[in-house]
Amino acid sequence: MKIGFIGLGNMGGPMAANLAKAGHDVTGFDMADVSIEGVTMADTGAEAAAGADVVITMLPNGKILRSVANEIIPVMSKDAALVDCSTVDVDSAKAVAQQAEAAGLLSVDAPVSGGVGGAAGGTLTFMAGGSSAAFAKAEPLFDIMGQKAVHCGEAGAGQSAKICNNMILGVTMIATCEAFALADKLGLDRQKMFDVVSTSSGYSWTMNAYCPAPGVGPQSPSDNGYQPGFAAELMLKDLRLSQQAAESADADTPMGEMASKLYEQFVENEDGLGMDFSAMLLRFEKRGRG
Ligand code: NAD
Repeated sequence: MKIGFIGLGNMGGPMAANLAKAGHDVTGFDMADVSIEGVTMADTGAEAAAGADVVITMLPNGKILRSVANEIIPVMSKDAALVDCSTVDVDSAKAVAQQAEAAGLLSVDAPVSGGVGGAAGGTLTFMAGGSSAAFAKAEPLFDIMGQKAVHCGEAGAGQSAKICNNMILGVTMIATCEAFALADKLGLDRQKMFDVVSTSSGYSWTMNAYCPAPGVGPQSPSDNGYQPGFAAELMLKDLRLSQQAAESADADTPMGEMASKLYEQFVENEDGLGMDFSAMLLRFEKRGRG
């Protein structure tokens, strides 16, 4: 396939490289001066998009996605698919899908989970929203860049699934960290705490697979000085998107709201910027109730 790829950063770069390695004809564009193995670089987004069967975007936020969409939709071939893999707000995802459909294009919102390691290894999970025809067109590319793709529903459903998942993740990480800090203060050994909780009803992915306490449980960023992994500021971005969506849909999400506030404090005022999101444990270790 002829593929246009716009946004070749930490995630987009290795994803585009994997598509080229699999034999696709990939033309890329990024505002920054980057070069990606196997990818022909264009001078503008429109140049990368023109004549492509599928255009993939991997951009920082919804505002940038909307502006790139305005630039590329008019030059895309009829029946081509616009596949946005960025994590953006649900409203932007739906607006871009509408604009693409009005221009006779297929469109999919397909945010990912799996991080930079998953992008490089081709093991991402895609959660996709769009028509069945659009999903079918993008699916062979998801198979190259990832290990699983779930068609979640119509336009916006991929972003909805992503932020609901990550709202659970943020809330659960905080609960796990505050429980470890409480256990410390009660004089409970962390390994014993892990042994009990990981096999009891408090178990979770954050405890069992990504334990925030160093030296306990499987290898995780806590064993590496809390280098990300999944950075606290990216968790904050996703929690904010969840609250924006909750506001828009009139959903009551008190735990998500609290998690968003705590990560905001952590990133902006408590040295959390640049640390893994599990470093939230360091915050609770230092604090009392006051
Ligand atoms: P990044 O900042 O490394 O990459 C974004 C790229 O987009 C940059 O190279 C930037 O120069 C480029 N860009 C910005 N505006 C542009 C424009 N108008 N035209 C062309 N290029 C433009 O970010 P990333 O880590 O690759 O993340 C990309 C998306 O993936 C984000 O939405 C993020 O939330 C999501 N995501 C990231 C991770 C992760 O672990 N990094 C995990 C899952 C999802």
